[in-house]
Amino acid sequence: MTADDLLARHRAVMPSWMPIYYAEPLEIVAGSGRRVTGADGRSYLDFFGGVLTNMIGYDIPEIRDAVQRQLATGIVHTSTLYLIRHQVELAERIAALSGIADARVFFTNSGTEANEAALLAATNYRRSHQILAVRNSYHGRSYATMGITGHRSWSASGLNPLQVAWLHSGDRLRGLLARLGPDAQLDAAVEDLREVLATQTAGDVACLIAEPIQGVGGFVHGPDGLLGEWKKVLDESGILLISDEVQTGWGRTGEHFWGYQAHGVVPDLLTFAKGIGNGFALAGVVGRADVMDAVPAISFSTFGGNPVSTAAGVAVLDYLRDHDLQANAARTGELLRTGLTGAAAAHPIVGEVRGKGLMLAVEFVRPGTSEPDPAATTAVFEACRAGGLLVGKGGLYGNVLRMGPPLTLTEDEAREGLAILVDAIASVSAAAVPAIVEGATA
Ligand code: PMP
Repeated sequence: MTADDLLARHRAVMPSWMPIYYAEPLEIVAGSGRRVTGADGRSYLDFFGGVLTNMIGYDIPEIRDAVQRQLATGIVHTSTLYLIRHQVELAERIAALSGIADARVFFTNSGTEANEAALLAATNYRRSHQILAVRNSYHGRSYATMGITGHRSWSASGLNPLQVAWLHSGDRLRGLLARLGPDAQLDAAVEDLREVLATQTAGDVACLIAEPIQGVGGFVHGPDGLLGEWKKVLDESGILLISDEVQTGWGRTGEHFWGYQAHGVVPDLLTFAKGIGNGFALAGVVGRADVMDAVPAISFSTFGGNPVSTAAGVAVLDYLRDHDLQANAARTGELLRTGLTGAAAAHPIVGEVRGKGLMLAVEFVRPGTSEPDPAATTAVFEACRAGGLLVGKGGLYGNVLRMGPPLTLTEDEAREGLAILVDAIASVSAAAVPAIVEGATA
């Protein structure tokens, strides 16, 4: 069967709103380490990892063995009505790692459900459905999580069970806080929070939910310390802080294990997903016992924390620790960041290189402006694929390339991918700049 046949069948049977990457969509048929093989017969270095999910890489023996040991018992699923040894062990480990005192952990199958569970706990604890969220955020595809998603492309419904007020993101290219230095941005963001609380809420807000680095939003982030400064204001009225660590968790940012740790604060609730299962569906929320236990009725996830996914999760945590992947993310991320920043200086289509560790983004603009250039972004994205590198796209205007490679990325692989990226940027830049100059003189 050709890829075209599969595309036609996909289009005929799947809803129209599911996006697929590339002008010629790719079917991935095999993988090993940081490389995948396409049905097109080509091998690709993977800097996106199935949206930051294949966090350790493909076909990792330690994780495969742990899952196979569980499969060999004959038990794939029991439901949480029975004790699940891997689930308890993983919860103990995550509770200890979370930094939250006396924490409780609830497992789900997706980041969306994890955020739903966090909202359920926070709104019950505070007896309020008023929420503070951040512009340009993404928290999931259910009604409540769409309601706290500040990103037009992903807001498929205006129906919202919550009452939401919006804070400014840390966007440095556009918006009211753009181009402020970190200290001025911190002051402005705190002032904004006070004003929003005073003018758009009844005061008894349940929580603020924020991504330490906005994933779908194109890796936009505010200055270090921002969540901590916000939390000081929230504490005046007992408002909870939820850190959505679906993309930033597990050492990906290199400098810390959790994104929130750059902010001098410990959240009341923290949500996780993606990388912890290294491809198995595993997500959840960890939070203060009094907040988690505020849910006043039975709440249950049939598949959440099942024996197979939690076996994978325990193996992932072992692997992270045994190979100090956080340090590797810092090292290889720095190599990539330095290379990309150098390339950016030579190519005015690059508006900003940002992110931390192995969570790096390049934003494309029309040279000399902050006007988004999604066409140039798509051209660089396709050129990367042609060069043998998979990356992601994102940002409010579709003008951001996102890189979230497996944390096992080697320095050689980082250099290899960087060279492909820089070539792709250079080729698109060479085509773009004369066109702009001609336009300006016509
Ligand atoms: N929160 C964040 C920060 C995410 O990036 C995502 C997924 N991109 C989600 C929540 C939702 O996760 P899921 O797709 O697993 O429901």
